[in-house]
Amino acid sequence: MRRGLHKVIGIDLLTDHTFSLRLERKDVTFLAGQCFNIGLPDTAVNREYSSYSSVFDDELQFLVREIEGGQVSPKLKLLKPGDSVEVDGAYGLFTIDPALVPGHSFYFIGTGTGIAPFHCFVKSFRGLDYKIIHGTRYANEAYNRLDYSKGRYINCATRDKTADFNGRVTEYLLANPPPQSAIYYLCGNRNMINDVYDILRELDISSSQIITEVFF
Ligand SMILES: Cc1cc2nc3c(=O)[nH]c(=O)nc-3n(C[C@H](O)[C@H](O)[C@H](O)COP(=O)(O)OP(=O)(O)OC[C@H]3O[C@@H](n4cnc5c(N)ncnc54)[C@H](O)[C@@H]3O)c2cc1C
Repeated sequence: MRRGLHKVIGIDLLTDHTFSLRLERKDVTFLAGQCFNIGLPDTAVNREYSSYSSVFDDELQFLVREIEGGQVSPKLKLLKPGDSVEVDGAYGLFTIDPALVPGHSFYFIGTGTGIAPFHCFVKSFRGLDYKIIHGTRYANEAYNRLDYSKGRYINCATRDKTADFNGRVTEYLLANPPPQSAIYYLCGNRNMINDVYDILRELDISSSQIITEVFF
């Protein structure tokens, strides 16, 4: 684990309020699914962000939603190439045991930027058998969906009938019960995680097969 200043390579706007923050990697090492603390230099304020990029990429990339009135995320959005940010990490146990990749199916269920660690998983583990159920408000929040193999990404949008599924991830799961044998990773909003956890347990899926990461 290390702490250091990293130069901003760029900010790519994905929607009006969500962007990818690209930083120089330097000598940072991490496990897919881990997060970093990121903050503006000399502010002593930082927030956790999960790696969006893979363990193989030359740069660190994060998927960030700008929270209105937030202390950190609006400032990150204003960064310019060449600016510096403090990066501390990596942290966290929201990771996949590589030994489980062959022979197991993985369900990744998340809301909003909670898809970030799943993007990292998909890009980091070759041959991963996965399905992503991603809850958003609108279909244009299906960030980088072309990065996922055909048929493996389902966008559930609550306010958009053009999405793969119009409704919440919980409604999708009730209509399309997932298999008992898969390993489940849930990430994002706490209420969604609690609701999905209950649905999976009702399906007799063991709690040992459910790994969670609460963003807020
Ligand atoms: C382990 C972990 C990993 C995380 N990874 C990411 C990530 O990859 N991308 C990302 O965008 N965020 C991520 N977050 C959330 C992030 O750390 C901040 O909480 C978020 O950016 C808001 O920080 P802020 O300083 O702008 O707002 P603050 O001043 O901290 O708070 C503003 C309010 O917004 C709420 N809030 C926080 N996040 C959201 C959200 N996404 N949508 C709606 N309300 C929210 C908070 O609960 C708080 O009430 C992660 C959090 C954790 C714990």
